[in-house]
Amino acid sequence: MKILLIEDEPKVASFIKKGLEEQAYEVDQAYDGFFGAKLALQNNYDVVVLDLILPKMNGLDVCREIRNQKSSVPILMLTALGTTDDKIVGLDAGADDYLTKPFEFKELLARIRALNRRSGESSSTEKLVLADLEMDAIKKSVTRAGKSISLTAREFTLLQYLLRNKGRVISRVDILENVWETSFDTGSNVIDVYINFLRKKVDKGYDNKLIHTLVGMGYVLKEQDEV
Ligand code: CA
Repeated sequence: MKILLIEDEPKVASFIKKGLEEQAYEVDQAYDGFFGAKLALQNNYDVVVLDLILPKMNGLDVCREIRNQKSSVPILMLTALGTTDDKIVGLDAGADDYLTKPFEFKELLARIRALNRRSGESSSTEKLVLADLEMDAIKKSVTRAGKSISLTAREFTLLQYLLRNKGRVISRVDILENVWETSFDTGSNVIDVYINFLRKKVDKGYDNKLIHTLVGMGYVLKEQDEV
């Protein structure tokens, strides 16, 4: 996932950037609104994190500029001001969500994930591919080597999440939050059970296994390493 961070305060910016990179997000940075708007319109980002008070062009104007150019990139506004009026002005300018400083980093992460999820759901042209495995989100179809695979709704959502994050190690907590939309680990082995369902449908009978377990870390969807 690629994130644009527009924040002028060096300490805050580097704190956020470091935290996001620890989550394996790719981060581009701008320290003023003018450059930030330019980057946002030049590149494809999954989420823009935008401070309100910025040099050259404030966050509201950056937001308006991005929306005027017909970009629908999800925007999360950051600000030290937290009154309802400020919030409404930000949302009116085209921001999708709002976070008041100071915030806890995990709150920022949760908001980013939620925005990314929402935009993923609304994109109607989504096709996800890994090796010979293909998923078409509109048709709700999955094929491996051209052969159709029949999945339940939950299996489909789980595989979609893994495909969107292919190559990345996904923890059980990530899966619970994003596929089951809960952060409570019930202590059950529900995730392992579903991963096994997917394995049987996706990998069984193929030499090139795509679903891998990393003991103590989670799962990763990728092509088998060369031996
Ligand atoms: Ca600022």
